[in-house]
Amino acid sequence: MKPFWNLPKVELMSFAEIEDKRKALLVTSAPAWNAVKVNLKGLNVASKIEVTEATTEHWDSLLTADNGRQTALVNGRRSAVVYAVGGGLTADASKYLAAKLSLPLVVLPTALSVDAFITWASGIRKDGCVYYIETKTPEHLILDLDIIAKAPATIRAAGITDVMSIATGAWDWKFAHEQGKNPAGMEFIPWVYDNAQSILSGVLDCAEAAGRGDKDGLKTLYDCLAMEVQLCNQIGHSRPEEGSEHYFAYAVENEMGHGLPHGDLVGPAILLIAKLQGQDTAPLEKALKACNIPLDNIPQDMIDCTLKLLPEYTRRHNLPFGIAHTL
Ligand SMILES: [Zn+2]
Repeated sequence: MKPFWNLPKVELMSFAEIEDKRKALLVTSAPAWNAVKVNLKGLNVASKIEVTEATTEHWDSLLTADNGRQTALVNGRRSAVVYAVGGGLTADASKYLAAKLSLPLVVLPTALSVDAFITWASGIRKDGCVYYIETKTPEHLILDLDIIAKAPATIRAAGITDVMSIATGAWDWKFAHEQGKNPAGMEFIPWVYDNAQSILSGVLDCAEAAGRGDKDGLKTLYDCLAMEVQLCNQIGHSRPEEGSEHYFAYAVENEMGHGLPHGDLVGPAILLIAKLQGQDTAPLEKALKACNIPLDNIPQDMIDCTLKLLPEYTRRHNLPFGIAHTL
């Protein structure tokens, strides 16, 4: 039996107040680290890893790369804790590395850009799709809402897309149920569907405040992310929030090559798929715009060709049934 995963312990505090004497393996990206390192003088960084790709090969190579003195693996083994500073890619890599090194993990998000900070799996790119491998939930998450408020506007609250994907993902889940196409273990559960709708309505309500960097709005966005993740944890799958909009995002990323942030892909995909599902997209579009999600970064010819190949793509990658399979 698969375990029921948990959320991290969360503290709202300034990064500048963090005092941790334990030797830390730092997992970060150059832009994120440069933006906040002045606030993190209280960390005892023994070794620093910069992540640029979402593959286990890359993450393993970071651990064993010779940095001139000692590998991060050696330093990691001598460390007592892993700190992740940055966005979703950093979070995914740090969960993988902390699990591999059997070290506790503290995550310091520099934007509320995805739900990866609080999930137990890491997304990896493989064979033109995104797969989720079990790694671990971070033990500890520190939210400095002042730092998040100052993140670039287009990624600051982009995690809204991972909650708003309930609009299309839960629709797919119900659709699959009506078609008798939910496999064992992913049966439709009405009260879970209703809970997901309630989380969706909460996130639509906080979109404007979160998008402009208001701290209460960002806190509510975090609450919605946490509830969405824990709802999926309870049932052991992500069907209430992941469906054709994510499939489209994975497929179009594969066509375009990597580079666009998750929100830039999932945001427009939610609108596209919701329209195909016959839903009213106006409230969705309003919330995405309020959170400054770029809606036109995917060229129209890419959208057209991705929609054409999507049914075959969903079957090839064995993705759970949704409207994408029927286009
Ligand atoms: Zn997502």
